[in-house]
Amino acid sequence: MGHDERYWHNVRERVRARARKLGFDRVGFARTEPFDALRDILLARRARGYETPFEHHDVEDRIDARRSFVPDAQPRSFVSVAMAYPSRVPSRIRSIPGDRRGDIARSAWGEDYHDVLRARLDALRMVILEEQSDAHVVSVVDTGALIDRAVAQRAGVAWIGKNAMAITPDWGSWVYIGELITDIPFPPDVPLEEACGSCTLCIDACPTDALLGDRQLDGSRCISAATQVKGVVPDPMKRKIGARLYGCDTCQVVCPHNAGVHAVHHEEFVPDVHRVRPPLLSLFGMTNREAKAQFGAAAWRGAAVLMRNALIALGNARANECIDAIAHVLMHDTRPFMRETAAWALGRMDDARARAVLDDCAATEHDHVVREAIRRAQDRDRFP
Ligand code: SF4
Ligand code: SF4
Repeated sequence: MGHDERYWHNVRERVRARARKLGFDRVGFARTEPFDALRDILLARRARGYETPFEHHDVEDRIDARRSFVPDAQPRSFVSVAMAYPSRVPSRIRSIPGDRRGDIARSAWGEDYHDVLRARLDALRMVILEEQSDAHVVSVVDTGALIDRAVAQRAGVAWIGKNAMAITPDWGSWVYIGELITDIPFPPDVPLEEACGSCTLCIDACPTDALLGDRQLDGSRCISAATQVKGVVPDPMKRKIGARLYGCDTCQVVCPHNAGVHAVHHEEFVPDVHRVRPPLLSLFGMTNREAKAQFGAAAWRGAAVLMRNALIALGNARANECIDAIAHVLMHDTRPFMRETAAWALGRMDDARARAVLDDCAATEHDHVVREAIRRAQDRDRFP
């Protein structure tokens, strides 16, 4: 690849233009030197217990593009991309008493973005190979090890806000980001200035004080992570989850850089309002296949996690009219974490039937975690 900088500059601009035609809303280029400054930050996060269970475990994989590249080849450039997604549903659901619904976070609206981004990045990869057929080009969507936000930040695609999100100038943080790695020496773009200033709206709005003020997030306190973890959710976190079935958008909704931002030009991401605000009882008994078909990316942890969150939402709504359905879960579901959640939800109801079910199940429940949950639910004054 013995060309001068001017030559690669021209190739870069042709690739950028083609990327925009492929539907990427921002495109940036950066060098692939390891993100050495992140190593200590990531290790400190781990030591303090701030990691979420979904973060890639190997820190060196996360900061070094060579670990994601072709063996024996030398990566030289990132091509970082962003695609904007909608922030508002296309229509409202008429409010009907007793029609209990939950919320899916915007990042999981519409088609599964992994599929959309992967297909577009594959197309962009072919564009680059048309320019330079002997290049190596590797596609990385966010299931990869690298920290996409750090790449986007270095490539001038976004800056990192105090809510720990990648924020773009035109589309705020309502964007999916991904990248390609290549051994073409593209001239780098200039990183953006961060623009939080003295604003602290996201930190103030976070219901669990999970934002630490230095653009970092305590994943152990983040509601978004809690909605995706399998098994039993601690009672205080159940209360904070509210009606969220997947994810939490609070620290993005309040951000001034998202004010008025609403992208509808990618049809794949425009949601069906009934899918992103589904009736809570419709999640009971759903199979993984059905959940995937209905909820796309929001179903990645399986239907059971969504059903558990629906039970939590019913408990938080004190949905007395759903007591029979919740009681059925406590009495018959074979999964202890589901019965535990049902017991908690019944404990939130101010209703003699709920108390009667809890009393009955206290006598027959054999799992000690569920028995404890029933005891707490029976003793609501002591365990509010
Ligand atoms: S996603 Fe929700 S819980 Fe997590 S940091 Fe943002 S506001 Fe807080
Ligand atoms: S809400 Fe304010 S502090 Fe938080 S990311 Fe947005 S601009 Fe920055």
